[in-house]
Amino acid sequence: MNKMEIIEMLAPLGYNCRSGLSRTGFRGITVHNTSNWNKGANAIAHANLLRGSWKSNYTSWHYVIDDTRAVRCIPENEVAWCAGDGRGDGNMKTINIEICDNSDGNILQATENAAELCAQILQRYGVSNASAYLYQHNHWTGKDCPYDIRRGNPCDWNTFVNKVQQKLNGGTSSSGADQIIRVGSKVKFNGVFKINEVIKPNDKYPNGAVGSYATCYGAPCDANDYIPCGPLATCNADGSNPNYNGVLRVGGYWTCDKIFNVVATDLPTKYLKNGVATLEADGVRFRCDCGPLYEVSNN
Ligand SMILES: [Zn+2]
Repeated sequence: MNKMEIIEMLAPLGYNCRSGLSRTGFRGITVHNTSNWNKGANAIAHANLLRGSWKSNYTSWHYVIDDTRAVRCIPENEVAWCAGDGRGDGNMKTINIEICDNSDGNILQATENAAELCAQILQRYGVSNASAYLYQHNHWTGKDCPYDIRRGNPCDWNTFVNKVQQKLNGGTSSSGADQIIRVGSKVKFNGVFKINEVIKPNDKYPNGAVGSYATCYGAPCDANDYIPCGPLATCNADGSNPNYNGVLRVGGYWTCDKIFNVVATDLPTKYLKNGVATLEADGVRFRCDCGPLYEVSNN
């Protein structure tokens, strides 16, 4: 398949489309078709609706996907109003994906991309049995959605679930990792990272923490996916002007020259090809994809 890109065009906070409520658990993914057959009604067009004429509606989705790309409109750890079940589990505990069926798009490829995105998400949540974590919108409210898949366009539901399962199964066959980080290694962060979320000091992170999509391949989905603020420096997008006393803000950037101990690792998978390292700083343990890390000498 073509390589699908995932981009982010978040819906604006402070409007009905984006409550800012935290998702209250993870029961899986709810799959929809947009049932918007207008020409040009692709993923970016739908993302723009949430930033424009639809922003005051109680309607939104985490991802909208077409034959070229997936667009993240609501962070995975927030609630999107998509399943139609109010404060039920469809809205509160699943990630909602809209597959575009615009008449000038390729629905075969869009649906294939959706299966790929589902597999990536389930993989991140440690799911191995796709069928237990995939829901039609119809499951929650009886709505005739996903409209196309329910009519076998381009495939029926069982075929879609099997596609996701096959992609999940392929997940552990070969890692293709750039490097494997081992327990006991000392590592540094390699690069400059955008700050997508900031969390206030709490019991786990006494100095607060930042969430960066680049360090966890998607929105932080677990309390351990945040990086303590203590060791981080604010900087410009190109890494210049690092300031270890700077205030870390959403939309800004951080870099870090400090050395961390690797205290645990998760093995690479197809979707996290470099594996995940558990690091420790300021007595706080947190998880990070190994991709942005490099080993430094133990001496
Ligand atoms: Zn739907």
